[in-house]
Amino acid sequence: MQNSELAEAFRSTLTLRWSPVAVRLMRPGERIPEGVFEPSTRIRHCQSIAIARRGNSMYIPPRCHACPDGAAIMGIVPMSPKLRSGELYLLFKKLPNLECAKKMIAARPEFTAGTYTATLVAPLEAATFIPDVVIFTLWPEQAMWLCAATTYSTGERQTFHTSGYNSTCADLTVQVIKSQTMNISFGCYGARASSDIEDFEVYVSVPYCQLEIIADALKNLSSKSIPEARRRIYLPPVMDCVSKPDEVAGETVEIIIDKKRCKGCGLCAAFCPEAMLEVTGTAETQKARKSRETGCCACYTCVGQCPEKAIQLKMRKNFQIGGM
Ligand code: SF4
Ligand code: SF4
Repeated sequence: MQNSELAEAFRSTLTLRWSPVAVRLMRPGERIPEGVFEPSTRIRHCQSIAIARRGNSMYIPPRCHACPDGAAIMGIVPMSPKLRSGELYLLFKKLPNLECAKKMIAARPEFTAGTYTATLVAPLEAATFIPDVVIFTLWPEQAMWLCAATTYSTGERQTFHTSGYNSTCADLTVQVIKSQTMNISFGCYGARASSDIEDFEVYVSVPYCQLEIIADALKNLSSKSIPEARRRIYLPPVMDCVSKPDEVAGETVEIIIDKKRCKGCGLCAAFCPEAMLEVTGTAETQKARKSRETGCCACYTCVGQCPEKAIQLKMRKNFQIGGM
């Protein structure tokens, strides 16, 4: 897939507001690619991500990096002694003592100074270079689907490595290059104080080489799970049940199937975890009906899955989960 196709796949499945940002750390001797500009002012790595998500492609050499911590963490400049010692974290009151500062710094992923010479950032669709990582700015629900899509093809759980410090440099760039696994970051002091990431946004970074597999998984998830969850298909009936309890005593759950609406597709029966429903009749006349009187756990799966909105549940006051 081309970068533009990948970007469109993520944009359409996740409904992205911002372009995913392609990030590359330039190796010594590497030539500056076409189509990028050097910013006229010094900017932080986190600011460059926010600028790139708006559609700008940039080459950022050491002279344009405004955050000495971030540039040093990415191996572009040497780390200053005051930053290396942790002293500055205390002055900013970001950590309580030097012991904590040294521990946080020691556990933080970094590259040795001189490993890289500059950063390249661009909206993924316009990247003229091969990114190391792609950084998404997302709201939590989008981050959830990106995480699910990463689990989708392997079944493996995702583990995240973050601290609330050094967000876009350490957590989203260095950590992901070193581990070749996705990582989440909630931002950091610098990113929140100097870029326009919104309070409700988080970052997720993904190794570029995994992007296509994740995009395919998202396509599959968006064929059913994503739109269903976004429509909150199980919410309305539950809310009705909570606000309007039925006073009738006796049965605990009544499954009401509107025979005029029912098209006999069988989705309710297929999805019912308690095998409460069946479809009967000939191909032309088939309709859903209860297969037995007791055992419904009121999960609302049939209500949410029915494309005809033909099923309703009536809850009785004495209903208890798991019982009838
Ligand atoms: S899902 Fe709806 S339309 Fe399909 S069989 Fe069940 S009640 Fe009928
Ligand atoms: S509410 Fe759940 S258990 Fe009850 S009939 Fe529908 S799908 Fe089956």
